[in-house]
Amino acid sequence: MAYELPPLPYDYEALAPHVSSDTLKFHHDKHHAAYVTNFNKMVEGTELASQSIEEVIKATYGDSSKTGIFNNAAQAWNHTFYWNCMKPNGGGTPTGALADKINADFGSFDKFKEEFLAAGGTQFGSGWAWLVLDKGTLKVTKTSNAENPIALGQTPLLTMDVWEHAYYLDYQNRRPDYAKTFVDSLINWDYVAEQFAAAK
Ligand code: FE
Repeated sequence: MAYELPPLPYDYEALAPHVSSDTLKFHHDKHHAAYVTNFNKMVEGTELASQSIEEVIKATYGDSSKTGIFNNAAQAWNHTFYWNCMKPNGGGTPTGALADKINADFGSFDKFKEEFLAAGGTQFGSGWAWLVLDKGTLKVTKTSNAENPIALGQTPLLTMDVWEHAYYLDYQNRRPDYAKTFVDSLINWDYVAEQFAAAK
């Protein structure tokens, strides 16, 4: 059963001016699509083909003979998750149980934001910034290339793609501007709260 490229959860123009339709078209239709195509090709005819993509990520992580499968599986999953973490007129602050947990584990929303922006800004080269639930505690993490929290036994709640293809057309080298815009204007906190509720 092949993993299908999910459609974007909004129109190509929906995140403008923060993320342009050109960026979404290249990022979703070319980059994300390629990871999905490569993943399906690589697992076709193997025992991994019948497993869920999350199971494949866990099964191939750290296996040097399956690096290509891991990279494409994780990138296929990471991008689907990333699209859902954004929405038009997003940003603002979380509410309810998630807001309480952020205050408890980070001290304040501003402290969370500071850590998240630092993670995105200091990830050297390609990778991802995350909010995860790790053994009952919220943490901000960063990962290189395709690596993701599922592989590390954590529950991902929020991610920001910091590969250059995520922002270069709109922000060129100004990754910090992209990251600040992501937090202030794009995060879909309802989706993050759903992940948190499901993880508890
Ligand atoms: Fe990407």
